[in-house]
Amino acid sequence: MIIENEVKLDFNNVLFRPQTTKLTSRKQVELLRTITFKHSRQSWTGIPILASNMDTVGTLEMAKVLNRYQIITCFHKFIDMNKVVEWCKQDHTFRSSYFAISTGITEKDMERLDANIQLCHDNNVSVQFICIDVANGHMESFIQTCANIRSKYPNITLIAGNVVGGEVAEKLITEGKVDIVKVGIGSGSVCTTRLQTGVGMPQLSAVMECAERVHSVGGYVISDGGVCVPGDISKAYGGGADFVMMGGMLAGHKESGGELSQDEDGNVYVSFYGMSSSNAMKKYYGGVASHRSAEGKIVRLKYKGEVKNTIENALGGVRSTCTYIGANRLEDIYNHTIFMLVNQQANQIYS
Ligand code: 5GP
Repeated sequence: MIIENEVKLDFNNVLFRPQTTKLTSRKQVELLRTITFKHSRQSWTGIPILASNMDTVGTLEMAKVLNRYQIITCFHKFIDMNKVVEWCKQDHTFRSSYFAISTGITEKDMERLDANIQLCHDNNVSVQFICIDVANGHMESFIQTCANIRSKYPNITLIAGNVVGGEVAEKLITEGKVDIVKVGIGSGSVCTTRLQTGVGMPQLSAVMECAERVHSVGGYVISDGGVCVPGDISKAYGGGADFVMMGGMLAGHKESGGELSQDEDGNVYVSFYGMSSSNAMKKYYGGVASHRSAEGKIVRLKYKGEVKNTIENALGGVRSTCTYIGANRLEDIYNHTIFMLVNQQANQIYS
């Protein structure tokens, strides 16, 4: 048995130290980033945020709004690609830069992925991103599976995860030939992995560890999970994330999908559940297989209205972070970050 003594940090364990700035308004902050990916050699410009590939977040309705902000929607893997294609055919150049097709790694997943890509190809819709998503990206076979998908699709930008270790994150880039590593195990708002298995890693430290290794070999990192407030998005960039993926913060909106309900006082709620919850497994696989347990839960969120308001509030928060720490551009946040460890009292803002 080994004990690691170094304290691992979550978003609510730190705050940014304010610094002298030349900026006089949030409007001056540049949120767009342009990135050329290592393996796909594709260039992309946008705001580096992704809607999570959950079926109550990564919907077509979500993409229709987020693409206006140049933000990526990771479609959940059961989405009807015919509807996506119909939408993209109305405007070929723009829309396909802001969605990713998700897949798992079973044979059935691969068949679905190939069929979805073929469908796009047949309709002249380009696919820029594939998101290869498994609960445990530390499986040895995962790297080889990613490499196989790379050889099939040399020019598509590959996202793969989830992992929390620097070594495996680096190998996903160098051996798995993916472009972006998705980081986060146990940090999701409807994830119960930490409770069910005792496994996980505080999100900020996971990002810091992975970003260092992944950047050293020319890859990029997504921080996935645990973002509860706009300040957490900035903290993820401060820790070295290039992109931030959000589930819960984008759930519960008009565009999110999920069942609506109302209480006696007229308050409207929307259901939101993990993709490994018994709810999702029942919906897509007919139940929880006997050898596994659900590692996600279902919650009821107060209906939040249009997602546009949440996005604008979040982007306003990131702009404001930049002005406080003297970063002219979102991509400068990392170099302008001084994190202070904070005590419990400062953390009470989260409760
Ligand atoms: P959130 O932004 O809600 O904190 O986290 C979203 C992330 O939680 C997703 O992108 C995904 O990585 C993770 N996630 C979604 N559903 C489940 C689940 O059922 N179980 C676990 N362990 N993680 C989940």
